[in-house]
Amino acid sequence: MIMSEPTLFAGLRGTLKRDESLARHITWRCGGKADLAYVPADRDDLAVLVRCLPPTEQLTVIGLGSNLLIRDGGLRGAVVLMHNPGGTLAVSDGLVYSDAGVASPKVARFAAAHGCAEAEFLAGIPGTVGGALAMNAGCYGGETWGYVARVEVLLRDGSFAVRTPADYSIGYRSVRRAGGGALDGVFTAAWFRFPQGDASAARTRIKELLAKRIATQPLNLPNAGSVFRNPPGDHAARLIEGCGLKGHAIGGARVSEKHANFIVNPEGKARAADIEALIGHVRRVVAEKTGVTLEPEVQIIGEGE
Ligand SMILES: Cc1cc2nc3c(=O)[nH]c(=O)nc-3n(C[C@H](O)[C@H](O)[C@H](O)COP(=O)(O)OP(=O)(O)OC[C@H]3O[C@@H](n4cnc5c(N)ncnc54)[C@H](O)[C@@H]3O)c2cc1C
Repeated sequence: MIMSEPTLFAGLRGTLKRDESLARHITWRCGGKADLAYVPADRDDLAVLVRCLPPTEQLTVIGLGSNLLIRDGGLRGAVVLMHNPGGTLAVSDGLVYSDAGVASPKVARFAAAHGCAEAEFLAGIPGTVGGALAMNAGCYGGETWGYVARVEVLLRDGSFAVRTPADYSIGYRSVRRAGGGALDGVFTAAWFRFPQGDASAARTRIKELLAKRIATQPLNLPNAGSVFRNPPGDHAARLIEGCGLKGHAIGGARVSEKHANFIVNPEGKARAADIEALIGHVRRVVAEKTGVTLEPEVQIIGEGE
């Protein structure tokens, strides 16, 4: 088993952590541990790690953990922690380049400063570029893949591929391979094409969008954004609120009073099992009372205790 053979990792330049608490890396601030967590030094270092891993070894990627619930029993195999506050951002040939570990709000501010329009929506999405690519994150009319010119992907055999949107099937908070298969590999970089705009107008728009979020979302409490996708033609928050579920709590987890599609962990004491049970309860009640089955937007992974 890979975990008992540290020599296999000789030559890596990043940081290897064993039994790492993933609550530190997830915005809900709960969940189990990773057997092995790795913070790569850069993309080439990540490629070395991937080549070290047996092909069947489970490999999980975490960006900023802002769309993830990791069960209390944690994650087996290897976990790659992609967030890279020092990651590269650049403009070249009219495209904005970003390493996948860069936080999306940073891309929004960088694009604005370079006179790009329409990247402002990324300012309110508190994940990495890699997470935004995997989720097709979006808001206020903008979606990540609407602006992607190409991406770089590290495949499981350790090789890199450059792909375009035509290689993917892209929908609302959904990205799959063009043939319909699940995403493969790790996004390591993206090149975005934004229309030309005005830096000062873009900065103003960012401020407005952030003010709107502060007014409507419980950003001062641990959460993972919208828990459920909006059903066609409706809003999950409206349905949940209509069922009287605001404030409903299980263990340390509570449906936010401020925004019904958010579940918060107000005292940082919720277990992942509390949050998962609350998600299940909300789904059941909404289905019983409205006939609409809500589909989670957050991803729930790992082993129960
Ligand atoms: C307060 C708040 C507000 C939010 N608002 C919005 C919003 O308006 N719109 C919206 O769409 N989302 C929103 N979200 C959800 C979340 O921020 C986005 O889905 C975000 O893009 C996730 O990025 P992440 O780096 O945190 O991904 P994670 O949560 O770490 O991971 C999410 C998924 O992406 C995969 N992934 C991450 N990085 C990579 C990579 N490099 N390569 C391959 N796969 C990868 C993970 O394996 C996982 O499957 C919000 C969340 C919060 C907490």
